[in-house]
Amino acid sequence: MENSGVQTFEYKAEMKQLLQLIIHSLYTHPEVFLRELISNASDALNKLRYRQLTDENILDKGQELEIRISVDDKAGTFTISDNGIGMTREDLTENIGTVARSGTLEFLKKMAEEKKAAGELIGRFGVGFYSVFMVADEVTIETRHAASDSRGYRWVSTGESSFTIEEIVKEHRGTSIFFKFKAGALEFAGEHKIREIIRKYSNFADFPIFVGKDKANTVEALWRKGEADVKDEERNEFYKFIANDYEEPLASLHLAVEGSGAEFKALLFIPRRAAFDLMRTRQHKTVQLYANKIMIMDDCKDLLPEYLQFIRGVVDTSDLPLNVSREVVQSCPAMASIRATLTAKIIQWLQKMANKETEKYLAFHKTFGPLFKTGLNSDFANREKLIELMRFESSTRKAGELTSFKDYVGRMKEGQKAVYYLAGDGRAQIEHNPNLEYFRKHGQEVLFLTEPVDIFVIPSITEYDKKPVKAIDQGDIELDTAGDPEKKGEDDLSKSLVGLFKDTLKEQVADVRVSRRLVDSAVTLVSSSEGLDRQTERMMKMMGQDVVSAKRIMEVNIDHPVLKNLSRRFLANPSDALLKKCVVQLYESAQLLDGELTSRSEYVNRMIDIMKEATA
Ligand code: ADP
Repeated sequence: MENSGVQTFEYKAEMKQLLQLIIHSLYTHPEVFLRELISNASDALNKLRYRQLTDENILDKGQELEIRISVDDKAGTFTISDNGIGMTREDLTENIGTVARSGTLEFLKKMAEEKKAAGELIGRFGVGFYSVFMVADEVTIETRHAASDSRGYRWVSTGESSFTIEEIVKEHRGTSIFFKFKAGALEFAGEHKIREIIRKYSNFADFPIFVGKDKANTVEALWRKGEADVKDEERNEFYKFIANDYEEPLASLHLAVEGSGAEFKALLFIPRRAAFDLMRTRQHKTVQLYANKIMIMDDCKDLLPEYLQFIRGVVDTSDLPLNVSREVVQSCPAMASIRATLTAKIIQWLQKMANKETEKYLAFHKTFGPLFKTGLNSDFANREKLIELMRFESSTRKAGELTSFKDYVGRMKEGQKAVYYLAGDGRAQIEHNPNLEYFRKHGQEVLFLTEPVDIFVIPSITEYDKKPVKAIDQGDIELDTAGDPEKKGEDDLSKSLVGLFKDTLKEQVADVRVSRRLVDSAVTLVSSSEGLDRQTERMMKMMGQDVVSAKRIMEVNIDHPVLKNLSRRFLANPSDALLKKCVVQLYESAQLLDGELTSRSEYVNRMIDIMKEATA
């Protein structure tokens, strides 16, 4: 075969920076190089196995698929070979030698700066093939693509500024990577050490990995075994391997489903922590889809509704034709029924956890609640069940403690007409809302919607257990005042005082009413039944939409000392200029508490004015 000579390529600037970082800053976990190389070899074998199903024209047809590693402790050399899909010349220039994911470099720079705290994350966050430069000064790749008319190539680089590619004679398909360990990495130059790392990171790779003559990993489809036949330890290791996580999962579930329109086995996990945003492109995978033990998709998001996409694991079905292309998978009728069954089973799993392993369920809810709750708006078939699985903070529970609708209803006072809630930015802010006063005084519980997602989903629940579910900052809320000492606000003086408020604030508010819900505060603002309700308004603002806030109703507490003083002044002189100033100040104070005050300087100036008169 003719040799077309050695060609030299420069790395792109970004790549050079990445390489510098890998070599000099991320050195804390050099052993990950092996995980990355095995994972690439395994991907290449999966691709080959998949292609083999439909393509006749491939090299070395029928060869056992495997990964071979050899180390020479005397020479300090390392070789890893696979007989997978291999690489073309383009693959070598395009796939090796560029930073695949935007954001990787920025992320790693940050990690390197925060070195101490990030130690573990660096190990978790693979930098792909290039992690090999943590342990080697120069690396050689020899590869040949599986297409029968392909050619062989050699790629060599010192990981500094350039790499070379030349054509070579290579008889078999697949890829071999070899290098000499650099001085600081000689600890890896031994079969024993290599086996140990394989057991740690790659024990469940899909293909046998031979180190020297012996197989170093367990190749087992754990999900095909019964739950009782799998040890907890194996299950946890398997999770760590497929999820690329360093922590054990929070919970796991074995499924073997037959009949009912879907046949599959699955092993599913809930991670302890959510994937980091920046890492999501790489780390946030959902479930792997296998058809009769052959992996056809590494991250099959279609198998789960979006609100359950925190689930990791493997689904293996006999319902998909083996030679199905990835593009067609989505539209296979079997997929829809697997998805529906899977969803139902996961919900059952969570129900059981909520009832029997409360702590675990709450940990799950804390981490994945925001995503999980969105299911209320999208999965109407399971809505009733999802409502039961929601958890909230509440006025009668300690901060951080969560409660359900069911428990709330169990605690409801006799005569209480509705399930009440109040939304806001966190518990502290909600607790200071004057609208809570009535409920506190009467010992009625109010659920606190503290998470941003709550206002997107909870207002759609209008009834629970035949009781209306209501936000307490609604103007039309029905309060039971039968037990209150006297009917307030019916006398003429109160009426004319309310008249003064209405007159002064006619541009700003929809109405002014005597309040039945205030106990300690002087005034509050509530929504009128016209226009958008507060929750919808907040939600639209959060989505970045311009909303003109609907005019609110102002409620005044006739028994409050300030209101009493105002009445007295009003009696003495209805056109006293201080009256109107105080009315506006009260209105803006309520706005301030709600986070809606527009002009702070006017507010402060007026306050100083009023103080001046009070101290004169
Ligand atoms: P990632 O695996 O995350 O895509 P890598 O830097 O590890 O990033 O690898 C880059 C690409 O190089 C892979 O996506 C693949 O296309 C190719 N590659 C790496 N190793 C092999 C291999 N052993 N066989 C075939 N292709 C490979």
